Amino acid sequence: MSYQGILHRYGHLLDLPAHTRAISLLEGNTPLVPLPRLGHELGCELFVKYEGLNPTGSFKDRGMTAAISEALGRGAQTVICASTGNTAASAAAYAARAGLRAIVLIPQGKVAAGKLAGAIAYGAEVIQVDGSFDDALALVVEITQKTPLALVNSINPYRIEGQKSSAFEICDDLGAAPDWLCLPVGNAGNITAYWAGFKQYQKGLPQILGVQAAGAAPLVLGHPVEKPETVATAIRIGRPARGEQALQAAQESRGQIIAVSDAEILQAQKILASEGLWVEPASAAGIAGLLAQTQSAGMEVRGKKIVVVCTGHGMKDPAIITESFTSPKVIPADYDSLFALVE
Ligand SMILES: *Cc1c(COP(=O)(O)O)cnc(C)c1O
Repeated sequence: MSYQGILHRYGHLLDLPAHTRAISLLEGNTPLVPLPRLGHELGCELFVKYEGLNPTGSFKDRGMTAAISEALGRGAQTVICASTGNTAASAAAYAARAGLRAIVLIPQGKVAAGKLAGAIAYGAEVIQVDGSFDDALALVVEITQKTPLALVNSINPYRIEGQKSSAFEICDDLGAAPDWLCLPVGNAGNITAYWAGFKQYQKGLPQILGVQAAGAAPLVLGHPVEKPETVATAIRIGRPARGEQALQAAQESRGQIIAVSDAEILQAQKILASEGLWVEPASAAGIAGLLAQTQSAGMEVRGKKIVVVCTGHGMKDPAIITESFTSPKVIPADYDSLFALVE
């Protein structure tokens, strides 16, 4: 039978209540794309788990199918989340599919155009907060404690359950867990879910390299960051809700959480594009971290099997690219003008 989404494929491995009513957009089942050129350069077998190919363009759909399905089955009528953008678009799409009302809070002016447009297109009520993501999340937590609104941020345990599916898929594709898993860390739901997923699946355990942006690196600094700043808006988070679990995943796996600069993130975005994968800046943090570790000899990669999670698609954040390029040349519609340019 053709693919029917995460709850259908892995539901028996996910800890979801019996009242769950599956809502799916056929998320998951994303490709593990080899990066032969960079892999050869580093002397390792390198793959990208291309999560930008999920229905709304990010891995958030894996957790959202579970969270919305549970909320619907429980009889919730309205879901709410705080978001740096991708959670908003995903919650909006799955709520629309389920016939639920969705309210999303975003930090004012700090959300990529394609994500905001997505949330609006799917019919969510979008509210901008004059503050950070962390401020918006605190508001969402408070209102869901005092009203029947259902919270679908990754504090919601069903989000983590759904997101475990990516670890299962990687093991199924490779036959076993890789030696290393590298991924960006923002609110730290995803690193928590991967570690839980690998532990549960029992096909071996990777070492985990979690990567934060230098301007939003509370887990590296060891304290919250009041005013997080980075071009990688999806990980512009100063007070990660699952920070403790992220540190635990890094420690238990004999891995590490490190920080990379915005320049390193943008360079990694270019390297991925040079192998045909356009990802959003936060998504490139995993590769940036891997490169930083190999250059500083902090990590032995030779002969290893390495999976880098690219969490979201580049198309949602076009301004990062278009602002750094001059506009394409305009020519008259004649052959000689074209020939003069391309010869
Ligand atoms: C949400 C998100 C992250 C961060 O994931 P956390 O679970 O918050 O650590 C990274 N990249 C993209 C594209 C995201 O949307």
